[in-house]
Amino acid sequence: NRFNVGIISVKFVLIDFHTHTTASDGTLSPSELIDRALASNIELLAITDHDTVAGYQAAATYYNLNPGQMRLLSGVEFSCRWSGATLHIVGLGMDCDHPTMKSGLRTMALAREARGEKIADRLEALGYVGALRGALEKVGSGQLGRPHFAQWLVEQGHVADTRRAFDRYLGRGKTGDVKTFWPDLAEVVSWITNAGGVAVIAHPLQYRFTRTKLCRLIVDFKDSGGTAIEIVNGRQSGDQVAQLKRAAAQYNLLVSAGSDFHRESPYGAQLGVELRALGDLQGVWEH
Ligand code: AMP
Ligand code: FE
Ligand code: FE
Ligand code: ZN
Repeated sequence: NRFNVGIISVKFVLIDFHTHTTASDGTLSPSELIDRALASNIELLAITDHDTVAGYQAAATYYNLNPGQMRLLSGVEFSCRWSGATLHIVGLGMDCDHPTMKSGLRTMALAREARGEKIADRLEALGYVGALRGALEKVGSGQLGRPHFAQWLVEQGHVADTRRAFDRYLGRGKTGDVKTFWPDLAEVVSWITNAGGVAVIAHPLQYRFTRTKLCRLIVDFKDSGGTAIEIVNGRQSGDQVAQLKRAAAQYNLLVSAGSDFHRESPYGAQLGVELRALGDLQGVWEH
């Protein structure tokens, strides 16, 4: 993997600190994701399913039986509430068996169940009878989320595709956007840090906050013990990465990067982020 360009040696290193499996709303099983990452020559991988570490744990069991050059890190992507919005906080490198983490994960599983029932009630009120059972059939061994309701709505012919399901019924501010069940930002950050992990603000530009509000989030996040920010998430523009790098430098945060891979798709990002492209900020991977 080493290329010599004149006297300068440039090493290509691929990492990925944000990925999903069938344990949440991804389409590759944990072992398939590991195989895909190995085939892509990724050197450092974290599996960050929504509100569960089951995908990481299954992947670790699989990988331990037949280890390769890649390093696998524990991960999770917690949903939480802050200032009226739903945010995603990635946890990396935590001890999944730590009591605080275990009780946090239990809290989230219950929250997802209760929220799923509420989403279903609201869809049924619109006449979409059988939403809960239909969505649960899509979940398999994973955790129930809005994408499963979207799949069911598409399959039933109520909407043409997933995007329309979110635009009409499930997306931000729509009837199925139920956020009341998530814990506060400070709480999920404390679960991660108590378990020895690093907390990361996931895709900070996805929330469409003003610059002032994003700064307020970073300050609150740091006050809660958070230390890192995601500067690359899937297909972002160079301008967006540059903006997030400036925020990381200004607030003295570690940086993280990932594809947010959910499925093979011509629109979504492929696995792997080239480390060299991230500049000289201090990365979570250096820990
Ligand atoms: P949940 O965890 O149940 O709140 O579902 C959130 C997940 O739904 C996100 O992580 C995405 O994978 C997916 N999602 C959110 N918005 C959209 C959208 N507009 N179109 C397709 N998928 C989406
Ligand atoms: Fe997702
Ligand atoms: Fe997310
Ligand atoms: Zn994600």
